[in-house]
Amino acid sequence: MRDPGSELNKLREDNLYRELKYGASATGRTFHSGDLSLLNFSSNDYLGLGANEAIKEAVTETIASYGVGSGASRMLSGGTTPHLLIEKETASFFGKDSSLFFANGYGAALGTLGAILQKGDTVILDKLCHASLIDGSRLSGATVRTFPHNNIENLKTILNSINKENQKEKRILIVTEGIFSMDGDVPPIKEIIKLKEQHQTLLLLDEAHSFGIIGESGKGFAHRENCIKGVDFLMTTFGKSAGAAGSVTVSSRTCTELILNRARSFIYSTAPMPSQAAAALAGLRLIKGKLGEERRGTLHRNIDHLCNELQISRPQGAIIPLIIGDELHALKIAENLHREGILAPAIRYPTVSKGSARIRITVSANHSEKDIAFLVKKIKKSLNNI
Ligand SMILES: *Cc1c(COP(=O)(O)O)cnc(C)c1O
Repeated sequence: MRDPGSELNKLREDNLYRELKYGASATGRTFHSGDLSLLNFSSNDYLGLGANEAIKEAVTETIASYGVGSGASRMLSGGTTPHLLIEKETASFFGKDSSLFFANGYGAALGTLGAILQKGDTVILDKLCHASLIDGSRLSGATVRTFPHNNIENLKTILNSINKENQKEKRILIVTEGIFSMDGDVPPIKEIIKLKEQHQTLLLLDEAHSFGIIGESGKGFAHRENCIKGVDFLMTTFGKSAGAAGSVTVSSRTCTELILNRARSFIYSTAPMPSQAAAALAGLRLIKGKLGEERRGTLHRNIDHLCNELQISRPQGAIIPLIIGDELHALKIAENLHREGILAPAIRYPTVSKGSARIRITVSANHSEKDIAFLVKKIKKSLNNI
């Protein structure tokens, strides 16, 4: 039998071994681990809402009214008013009819893709789509195709190659992201929608890294590009800019009904705690309110500042990848930064392809100008010390 110890040793040899870190607080400007205090450039809490008082209050008040556990699947008795409200308000926020709340984005992807697709269908993903979208596609039983990142010509070729016989009984779904999670760039959405219409396919857009960050009131990428009508399924997580946890798939009423009838991660799982739905709702309300607007302003100033100082092109969102290439090299730079008081992880295979290891910096509205200046100084020093 394959020995787990030697499997781990192989990961170590390849510089792909991973271990967990434990800190005193998961979000915020600094990361405390033991005696060590690091400036945190690894959190997806882009707007600095993770410790927000309004979200904390929403949680404690909901626990006082509803208790802690939800007790059952939503299909049974697990649904409460906070679940209903988060679904109503996200649907109207994104300008769609309907929405379904999941415990997390990973489960939403598995459930949604599994509900819409079946054997005989085709799902076409951008090569850099998040693991949850890939896993959901594979599990669905549909034929899985991928196109090179943002390559419209290749997508066209795939669409042309699909056998359109019996099309009335089949679905073709294109999947892409609003802002890509490891590269921080955006897709050619208008061209994708044009193709989608020509070939009568569906489109799923994952706005995990664009929700709260770009677009009017933080409505994300599709809204900013005036393309929301062309998006059939919009997914986002509340674990990033909303400072909470959970996820929604927003779509038409019929599609939402289909998802809730078919999504196994929704049906066969205990409902998220009512307080989690309330936290997500409080996060959403902050994002669309005045505080959200202010935080987005600070965030974008911080991103501008960092990119100017490092003389790199400005990404659309708050993810700034410093592409290093070699895995060991990237690990060493991350270790150097760690020694200098900065938490910015090396991202390696299989999260990104082999030989494209990178330092992934995520900027937040919690960082001050001084923090950004400190980071710039330490990055320059670490790169020179390799
Ligand atoms: C983080 C992320 C997810 C998963 O969301 P969780 O709520 O953390 O499970 C899905 N898609 C993308 C693009 C993500 O970045």
